[in-house]
Amino acid sequence: MSDEFIALSVPNLKGNELKYVTDAVETEWVSTAGPYVSDFEKKLAEYVHVPAAVSTQNGTSALHISLMLCGVTREDAVIVPTLTFIAAVNPTKYIGAEPIFMDCDDSLCMDPVKLKKFCEEECDFTDGKLIDRATGRHIKAMVVVHVFGNMADMEAILPIAEKYNIRVVEDATEALGTYYTEGKFAGRFAGTFGDFGCYSFNGNKIITTGGGGMIVAKNPEELAHAKHLTTQAKADQANFIHDEIGFNYRMTNLQAALGLAQLEQLEDFIKTKTANYNQYKEAIDKIEGLHVQDFRPGTRSNYWFYSVVFENDETGRDALIEELKENHIQSRPIWGLISDQLPYEGARTYDLVKAPWYWKRVVNVPCSTNLTSEGVDRVISVIRNFMS
Ligand SMILES: *Cc1c(COP(=O)(O)O)cnc(C)c1O
Repeated sequence: MSDEFIALSVPNLKGNELKYVTDAVETEWVSTAGPYVSDFEKKLAEYVHVPAAVSTQNGTSALHISLMLCGVTREDAVIVPTLTFIAAVNPTKYIGAEPIFMDCDDSLCMDPVKLKKFCEEECDFTDGKLIDRATGRHIKAMVVVHVFGNMADMEAILPIAEKYNIRVVEDATEALGTYYTEGKFAGRFAGTFGDFGCYSFNGNKIITTGGGGMIVAKNPEELAHAKHLTTQAKADQANFIHDEIGFNYRMTNLQAALGLAQLEQLEDFIKTKTANYNQYKEAIDKIEGLHVQDFRPGTRSNYWFYSVVFENDETGRDALIEELKENHIQSRPIWGLISDQLPYEGARTYDLVKAPWYWKRVVNVPCSTNLTSEGVDRVISVIRNFMS
């Protein structure tokens, strides 16, 4: 069997990337103006079936702008997941607001049952404001992450947000291409349910611009405001008149050239990811003590990341990662819980049970779009030998 290195999640740039980037260089449109930026925004908006989108430097800046536009201030609180990448939560602190860490369910996304219980039992709802009784803070927004490309339970989460007047920022940075196939939301894409939806094109995401992000929004005026804030809030471009504190968060034409070429291949990438997922699942579910975590029924997932779960044993995780490494295969544990990390020491948490359980038991295995079926077999055989 081949001994070639298998990476966890790396870019796949075999389409029109070089052509478009060369064009951007040859025309000398390399910065934040240039035709690829607006073209990429337009094509991405079309892909997720919304009227418009605004590009950003990365997913983190998209989330930062979105939370600001939800009206979150340093007096407020934001409900966030504890089991996710820290970039979903840091923007709350950029603003100076406080996070309230919520548990996940078996989808690894925010648990709507606990969310509801928290709002009902821990908060007061007066004058249209949900107040966390323990801190007195107004809960103005929540960040819902579609973890690993799996759709969060939007059917259950949205009515809770509506009832308690909580604005929703969808962190769809891992879930571009995921949509409902059944139910009242059939055809709706991850990122298009909340007040704002954020995408990322970081190097490990399903499509990449090297680094980059995108914002979509329910309200076109708020989306226009987002664009204003990403471009230094210029009120009068010619005379350098600015009417707010803005940011330099705009994507460059070079990044967008890559993005456009990547977007052309997105559906093919999802096909490969789906096939590889199914191959893993078929084999690993047969191994005693392990399974591959499901994606939500009634959705077409983008199958971005695959989670192998140790069902009974929490000692296997690190040993398996080590064993894979010895076989030149890259893997990783799921993220350390954000509420356990130093910058969030003492933060408000609510009944965290499943998140710590999964944290100890999940290994993410290679899922690049250039991973072949033979590659998947090699990973499976190392896992099988490890477990026997
Ligand atoms: C990647 C990611 C981000 C941040 O995106 P960047 O483009 O890397 O800034 C935010 N949230 C989650 C859940 C992510 O996986």
